[in-house]
Amino acid sequence: RPGVVFDNVDFGYERDRQILHGLSFEAPAGKHIALVGPSGAGKSTIGRLLFRFYDPWAGRVLIDGQDIAQVTQESLRAHLGIVPQDSVLFNDTIGYNIAYGREHASDAEIERAARGAAIWPFIQKLPQGLETEVGERGLKLSGGEKQRVAIARTLVKDPPVLLLDEATSALDSQTEQDILATLRRVSEGRTTLAIAHRLSTIADADLIYVIQDGRVAEHGSHTALLRHD
Ligand code: ADP
Ligand code: ADP
Repeated sequence: RPGVVFDNVDFGYERDRQILHGLSFEAPAGKHIALVGPSGAGKSTIGRLLFRFYDPWAGRVLIDGQDIAQVTQESLRAHLGIVPQDSVLFNDTIGYNIAYGREHASDAEIERAARGAAIWPFIQKLPQGLETEVGERGLKLSGGEKQRVAIARTLVKDPPVLLLDEATSALDSQTEQDILATLRRVSEGRTTLAIAHRLSTIADADLIYVIQDGRVAEHGSHTALLRHD
């Protein structure tokens, strides 16, 4: 159950435009943390550094106490699951898309994973069955249906660290609540970082970091931050 640490991280996409300024925060092992803050604050950038799409200019990113710069890409990917805001699906069935999360698993495991996911309420309530073709890039599904499949695909991978980048923010609130309830159940004890706007999404976070201008402006529990306003 690895925790995640950003230790004094500086980063920018371009030399002359720094985005993260000595950013430090911790997602303790097994805890659910939320990263909130205005658009452009650097929240998605944090996710990209976690996946090593980019490396920090200075400072370190640690998973389970290990600098991710020292870890193989395979080991990093085995630890991390991401649900981005806009997920792209494969031109195949819903069931295949969900099972794909277990890319290195045996056929039997994949079968079991898809059957397991089929009982999650947000998948059960899909109007289409698991055998339904999603079409090119998932175009035969609505945005919300697509996102439910994408979330299931990441959850069946059972990643120790889960990053949700506005994963439910484009959904109607009933679907969002269904998904959040399932996430709480299956992510009990899993280190979770949720990038979010809506307060409803992060009400149960163990710890909230408010990111502004690439720094942690404040942190605390949901109630402590609300009292603050
Ligand atoms: P947030 O997720 O908090 O809205 P982002 O991390 O997406 O913020 O973006 C932080 C800043 O980095 C923004 O000013 C954005 O324009 C800039 N940015 C994001 N991605 C890139 C990129 N690929 N190249 C250059 N600048 C980028
Ligand atoms: P896999 O299931 O093959 O291990 P990942 O979990 O790394 O793949 O990523 C799942 C999907 O999300 C891929 O399509 C990948 O391109 C995309 N993705 C991964 N990381 C990010 C990120 N930080 N921001 C946006 N999309 C991402």
